[in-house]
Amino acid sequence: MSEALAAFNRWLIALPEADAVFLVRLTLGFVLCLGAIIGSFLNVCVYRIPLGQSISHPRSHCFSCGKIIPWYLNVPILSWLVLRGRCANCRAPISVRYPLVEAATALLFLLVFQMWGNPALFGLNRLPTPLLILPLWAFVASVVVDVLIDIDHRILLDRISLGGTALAFLLAAFVPTWFGTGVWWEALLASLGGAAAGFGVGFAIAWVGERVFLQDAFGFGDVKWLMLFGALFGWRGALCILMIAAFVGLGMGLAALLSAKLRRRGGEAGPLAIPFGPALGTAALLWLFWSDALVRLAFSTHAWAFQHRGAFLGVLLPLLLISLAWLLHRIRAIRAAVQEDDGLEPLSEESPEHERHHSP
Ligand SMILES: [Zn+2]
Repeated sequence: MSEALAAFNRWLIALPEADAVFLVRLTLGFVLCLGAIIGSFLNVCVYRIPLGQSISHPRSHCFSCGKIIPWYLNVPILSWLVLRGRCANCRAPISVRYPLVEAATALLFLLVFQMWGNPALFGLNRLPTPLLILPLWAFVASVVVDVLIDIDHRILLDRISLGGTALAFLLAAFVPTWFGTGVWWEALLASLGGAAAGFGVGFAIAWVGERVFLQDAFGFGDVKWLMLFGALFGWRGALCILMIAAFVGLGMGLAALLSAKLRRRGGEAGPLAIPFGPALGTAALLWLFWSDALVRLAFSTHAWAFQHRGAFLGVLLPLLLISLAWLLHRIRAIRAAVQEDDGLEPLSEESPEHERHHSP
């Protein structure tokens, strides 16, 4: 594999510059197209998997008139733009979420390719192996699916959390450089330890939360997802993702509060929902792409903190977990207040939503 790659690099370097630039642009264009097509498929998954429908059958059709969408009107992003967001047959509106998900997936695929692609092509990659591109494409796609299904149904899929954890163990054993080592069992141990840490910390939060105040803020689905993040990024990654998610979650909570207030002003009140999954997924993607920069940002103001980062994290993490609990509690309180404002029943212990995040 590395031999072939080296030969490919030599061939690429020997190309006239104009040809090489053209080839790079062609490759990036191809990656963007692939990402958009996968994004289109993810839209189908998000809609059908929670309903227990097949993801391949039947073919895509209009939800309004049921007409099968021909392939030339099912081109990711472009078709939606050309049709101005309406069905070609019955003119029923098509959600802007579909092209947005396709565009987001295309960009995520491009980012993965840029960062872990051929170093001769991009000079940006962290690891000298393009073996990571496919697993990481699968990972970003699974995050997109889980975030959207969590928004729609308050469910995080077991097949992603548990299947992804098993695949992360395999990745560690077969591509140990992902964990910064050349020894397969060291990487596997790091992955197993990370999964245990993610599960353990998540379980503790869910257990305490269920008994104290969070109730539906952080459920068992989140615990299993955190286990996957631990298996993929190690224990530090799992804990940092949790921390980042707390901040992202607060931001989303405030945004939801604001939009609820705005909607009320417009005379249209809807229930306000803040699942933690989107914050967790966003944090995982931030960590995947910018972990180095985030760590540098966190420690840049205190050089001594970076030198003693082991001890520093030991003190900081409990503090951050407490603040995470507090942030989730705030979000829940804000949510309850807005629901009361909207004349909705505040969530009670017996509410069916108490069961959310438990995958079927
Ligand atoms: Zn239609």
